[in-house]
Amino acid sequence: MNSIRKLQDTLKSVRLGEAANHLPVLLEKAETNDDTYTTFLMDVMKYEQKRREEKKIEKHFKWATFPFRKTLDEFDISEQQSMSKRQFNQLKELLWIEQLYNLILLGPPGVGKTHLAVGLGIQAINQGFKVIFSSMGELVHTLKTEEITRKSQTRMKRIRGADLVIIDDLMFMAMNQQEANLFFHLINDLYNNACIILTSNKAPKQWGELLEDPAITTAILDRLVHRSEIIHLSGESYRMKHRSSIFEQESVSN
Ligand code: ADP
Ligand code: MG
Repeated sequence: MNSIRKLQDTLKSVRLGEAANHLPVLLEKAETNDDTYTTFLMDVMKYEQKRREEKKIEKHFKWATFPFRKTLDEFDISEQQSMSKRQFNQLKELLWIEQLYNLILLGPPGVGKTHLAVGLGIQAINQGFKVIFSSMGELVHTLKTEEITRKSQTRMKRIRGADLVIIDDLMFMAMNQQEANLFFHLINDLYNNACIILTSNKAPKQWGELLEDPAITTAILDRLVHRSEIIHLSGESYRMKHRSSIFEQESVSN
């Protein structure tokens, strides 16, 4: 076995697999540049470190299960009268995650609630946070099947370990008492350790109407709304306004 192969095996055995695979390139660079031993060793370690970080972020993206990957840069803030550029930039800085603030994004369908939530989620993952995206429907299903399927168990473990949990389309469907209870317990568990982004096309006071037990509703609402920022997205549906049409633009004058 040649010495490079031997070195690669040794690197792998001490769990430096990424550096091992990249070793020929790293060696060539060091030789071409006449690098010192210190520089070479630093390059090897830095490469391993960089790849580990990249792989961690890839894993977090996989766990997040975003419905699409639209970023904050693709979010057109000029469409939003209800949020200033400055507020948008403050959201983007993600200080609210460290301060454990929740965000509640409200507004009619098509105004960009899910896009904004996903954009913030992507930003958070890229900054090293663990994020989970779940529709309300999926979340309730996962909670109900947590004790039954391995898949739901794993998913719930990730949700409970996340720094940011995005719950999309809150109260879109009616929940029964058992589901409301499970949901409340989850919010309770998340409350001190994670941030929550909720999106809904109904105002918070209407959320309860779909639940059977007003006491549970009040308890959930107290938990959610305490320490939270409510953002009303308004305006015409972006989807409708920017939809593609099979008709050519007609001139107004004719
Ligand atoms: P909602 O969740 O409020 O129903 P979505 O976030 O799903 O709306 O937005 C609907 C579509 O319109 C998506 O394709 C989204 O990317 C786009 N969209 C909405 N608002 C904006 C915006 N301000 N800038 C760019 N795209 C937007
Ligand atoms: Mg949506």
